[in-house]
Amino acid sequence: AKNASFEALTVETLPGRLGALAALTDHLGDDVSAWRVREVGDGNLNLVFIVEGSTGSVVVKQALPYVRLVGESWPLPLKRSFFEYHALIRQEARAGKGTVPAVLHFDEAQALIVMEYLTPHIILRKELIAGRELPRIGVDLGLFVARTLFRGSDLHMAARDRKADLALFADNVELCDITENLVFTDPYFEAKLNHYTPALEPLVAELRADRDLKVEAQRLKHLFAANAETLLHGDLHTGSVMVTDTDTRVIDPEFAFYGPMAFDVGMMLANFWMSYFSQSGHEQDGSRESMRAYLLETITSIWAVFRTEFSRLWRSERSGMLYARSLFEDRGDPLGAEQALDRVLHDIWQDLLGFAGVECHRRILGLAHNADFETIEDEAKRAVCEAKALRFGRHIAVNRRAIHSIEEVNAFAALIE
Ligand code: ADP
Ligand code: MG
Ligand code: MG
Ligand code: MG
Repeated sequence: AKNASFEALTVETLPGRLGALAALTDHLGDDVSAWRVREVGDGNLNLVFIVEGSTGSVVVKQALPYVRLVGESWPLPLKRSFFEYHALIRQEARAGKGTVPAVLHFDEAQALIVMEYLTPHIILRKELIAGRELPRIGVDLGLFVARTLFRGSDLHMAARDRKADLALFADNVELCDITENLVFTDPYFEAKLNHYTPALEPLVAELRADRDLKVEAQRLKHLFAANAETLLHGDLHTGSVMVTDTDTRVIDPEFAFYGPMAFDVGMMLANFWMSYFSQSGHEQDGSRESMRAYLLETITSIWAVFRTEFSRLWRSERSGMLYARSLFEDRGDPLGAEQALDRVLHDIWQDLLGFAGVECHRRILGLAHNADFETIEDEAKRAVCEAKALRFGRHIAVNRRAIHSIEEVNAFAALIE
């Protein structure tokens, strides 16, 4: 039904509409009447169905022509599903099988992706709120970002291929627009869709009057919009990761587009720092001490693994037009290549602190909040956690060029009032 006009699926219509697709019957069995369908979407934008049959299960994710969280008053194009599909297959090729859900089928007109049902996986954010320490995520997420960001850039790809890819993703305008406004601009003035815990009012007024912060946020927006260096996931927070003790999967790359490497890394780390600040809101009698230590270790590990893997790829897969081997290794100057690597990592470091800082602000002051804070029912407690994250975000964004190590940032997080 490639040319059929779009129609949103329902639990009732799904078996009838998709019952003839091999991608489904191969996994679920031919007896369509035995399929059980549930809608489980908890995200802000799309429909997500779990379909279980006699021989297996799949997930069907379908875009809607509007923002699910807000309703039909906020239209959003179906083509985000196209970008999610193209991002998923690139991420699998670049980070490896088993790092994202396998794609089984894509229908552009119906804006739907049939994919592997991840089970018994749980959304990472939920696990962190529950105080569970996942042993693999530091390594798995560090590798995922290093491999996808390096291999999607001019450090690795042929220039022609990367430019073609850049053109393909350049059309993801509306989702970029959401990030451009909701992340970099709206938190810093009284935008209509903003909301925040009332007790934060004095601090919010202080942040919005902070000229250095506003200018820095706009410089980061400039970088985000103008530095199209690699294919980003674009929405890489702990709600876009599903985990078990032994497996880590990154989901939901519909915001994918070409932007600065530091954006994905900064967003990811910000969500771990916010989890850190939220722990006291979920704590009884110091029960989260070990969780807090685990979160800082995980942050340290993600950044260390990222650097190590990025450096490995730099030395072994630097086949693109940038920092060509013909200038360095092939001229007997391997140190030149190492010096250039150090500069590139240094720039990523300074920029990721900025992106992490604004991400902390927009999740507390903007439209889309984090369950980490939202599930703290005691409003006074929640405000204390959020205020720390806001001050932390301001510090790392404004002072990002004067901060030299992840240990320094973690020490600041641990001491902030
Ligand atoms: P949205 O774009 O609306 O945020 P997501 O892709 O984040 O949608 O999916 C929403 C929810 O559906 C996830 O939080 C997760 O609980 C569930 N989900 C999505 N994809 C899968 C999958 N492949 N396997 C299992 N559950 C999934
Ligand atoms: Mg999501
Ligand atoms: Mg690979
Ligand atoms: Mg999404």
